[in-house]
Amino acid sequence: MLFKIILVFLAAMVLIALVGRALFPSALPRVLRKRQSPPRCGTCGRYLIGQRTCDCGGKAK
Ligand SMILES: [Zn+2]
Repeated sequence: MLFKIILVFLAAMVLIALVGRALFPSALPRVLRKRQSPPRCGTCGRYLIGQRTCDCGGKAK
C-alpha cells in the first residue's frame, strides 16, 4: 500500500516536471540551458558581471 502511494507521488512529480517544462522553458535550471555568453555592454562591449548597466551608461545586450 505504501509502495503504491510512493509510486503515485513519483508519477505526479514527473508529470508536474514535464508540464512545467513545456509551459515555462525559461524556468529551467541554468545547467540544463544552453550556455550563453556572459552579458556585455551594448555600447562599449565590456563584460557586465552582476550588473545590468555599464559604467559608460550603456545597457547589457
Ligand atoms: Zn559600456
